[in-house]
Amino acid sequence: MIDSVSERGVIFVNEVFSGIQGEGALVGERQVFLRLSGCNIRCVYCDQPEALVKAPGIARLECRAGTRRWDEVRSPIPIERVVGVVDRLWRDLPHHSVSLTGGEPLMQAGRMERMLELMTVAGQRISLETNGTLASQLKKVLRWIDYVSMDLKLTSVDAAGVSLDLHRQFIEACEGPRLSIKVVIGAGTDVNELARALELVESLRSDVEVFLQPVTPFGSVTQAPDPGLVLSLHEAALRVHPRTRVVPQCHKLIQQL
Ligand code: SF4
Repeated sequence: MIDSVSERGVIFVNEVFSGIQGEGALVGERQVFLRLSGCNIRCVYCDQPEALVKAPGIARLECRAGTRRWDEVRSPIPIERVVGVVDRLWRDLPHHSVSLTGGEPLMQAGRMERMLELMTVAGQRISLETNGTLASQLKKVLRWIDYVSMDLKLTSVDAAGVSLDLHRQFIEACEGPRLSIKVVIGAGTDVNELARALELVESLRSDVEVFLQPVTPFGSVTQAPDPGLVLSLHEAALRVHPRTRVVPQCHKLIQQL
């Protein structure tokens, strides 16, 4: 749904904190995470169920970077306040970038425009984590984004039913930022579906790095892919798109948020 002009002064937030990026191209970097509420799809392995609905609720804001002491406030939150919280954490210690995550941040692309403008003026690099399905919304904020980590969804893993054509539109729209792509793989991954997805990436952007991410069991997903399957999926991916690596969710290995 398109936000009205009066709604754009506030944004639905789940949490804001300073943490260690555990996935993909920026793994290990310190970031300010701005987790927005609302997602347009439902993946069976989603580990952020509390961030799936864009509706009034309670957001938690870390008081000082890395302390895990929180203020709780009502969401939606005025844009200027969100920018102030991010800026305070950013200044507590050197950060690589601000990670816009969720949920699906692009659900609120209209509300993000002014916020991202202010963050960019403050000198903050912006990294977008997205499910790669909302190309028209991406175009609204593209000028402020430095990095994009796009999920490429496999129905045999997430059961979300995202079409490859939606991902095609997104990749084609993503001109400017440094793009990388993450593909969650699970015990039931269809190797042919994986190969078709990476053929699409190779045909559009052979330069882009792809990260195969073995699923971390959560909720109804109780099984990770076994070591032999990870090797064979990696082999199948490399034969189509040589710039493919395997990186698990490192933040979970070290018990970070
Ligand atoms: S796209 Fe991300 S936030 Fe949305 S349901 Fe899937 S894993 Fe969860």
